[in-house]
Amino acid sequence: MRGVASGILVWLVVTGVAHPALDLTPLSPAVKDGSVFFPPDLVENGRRNCEKYEWARQARDTVVAAAEPWLRMSDDEIWGLMFGPTITRSWMVWSNGFCPACRKPVPMYTWVIDALRLPWKVRCPHCGETFPKNDFYRFYLSGLDERGVFDASRADRALLYNVEHPDPSDPLHRFGVDDGEGWVEGDHRWRFIGAYLIYGQWKQLVLGGLRNLAAAYLATGDGAYAHKAAILLDRVADLYPSFDYSTQAVTYEQRLGSNGYVSIWHDACEETRELALIYDAIFPALGGDEELVSFLSAKAARYGLANPKASLADICRNIEDGLFRDTLRNQHKIASNYPRTPIAAATIMAVLDWD
Ligand SMILES: [Zn+2]
Repeated sequence: MRGVASGILVWLVVTGVAHPALDLTPLSPAVKDGSVFFPPDLVENGRRNCEKYEWARQARDTVVAAAEPWLRMSDDEIWGLMFGPTITRSWMVWSNGFCPACRKPVPMYTWVIDALRLPWKVRCPHCGETFPKNDFYRFYLSGLDERGVFDASRADRALLYNVEHPDPSDPLHRFGVDDGEGWVEGDHRWRFIGAYLIYGQWKQLVLGGLRNLAAAYLATGDGAYAHKAAILLDRVADLYPSFDYSTQAVTYEQRLGSNGYVSIWHDACEETRELALIYDAIFPALGGDEELVSFLSAKAARYGLANPKASLADICRNIEDGLFRDTLRNQHKIASNYPRTPIAAATIMAVLDWD
């Protein structure tokens, strides 16, 4: 399946459809009527192979096992995985920093982040201490506004203490506490949550969940995987246009003006392309999923979303507008090393509007 997708992509690029000088912006809503990169007959063949061949069965079982944590989550939990852009994101905890507990160097990308097992924490690779020391998730929930987006001014700051040292007279009561803008000690700032948002919540829980759910759907044809993926994809689409890495995030402890969405430009480019392929992969399962419409329309009403999600067409429009047409209009946010951006744009265009 991946070979076919790559083949189509290669054809797109070599025929010049994806030349960056071309206007790649189909702004009028199209009616997508099927999967482009995952033709039904090939997908069916792949599923039949899982019954016939041991190697295919093993591949299927691997992706099913990988999707299991997200399949077990409730629809509400899946929806709540995505966050808004209101907490400063950081490409590193502290690029040349050390662990506040053991003081050993933990530079660049060496903090251990394992969001499924250790949500809202980063772990020192030397001493194993986890940060931040406060229950950030509880603090985060206390600050969600009527749109379901964190607002620091609403959050309960009484929750900002080291849960391992709850006694206010304990000298470690405030140690390692991060309100979203980092733990500060002297001149040093550790952006535990700012980096966790990118590497844990976004790349592992949101993107990883979508990737694993879509793969499990492709391999099994079980709409339960596509249902969860659609909820998450739709919620990402609600918020994706509000992400702007250049004004909201820091790299090497500074605002360098680097473009991007949730992630910085080179990762945003690949992530958005992958989101298009995920949408394309699960698309055939969405028709007839009435639970999807009832769940998302209730969320839209409760959180005052502009798109009412009253039909599958509304949901597809939300996903296509929020994730893909927004990207085509704002290609500077995914401007990457040639030819990555035209490949992403061509993939998105094909997924949106392939005849
Ligand atoms: Zn340490």
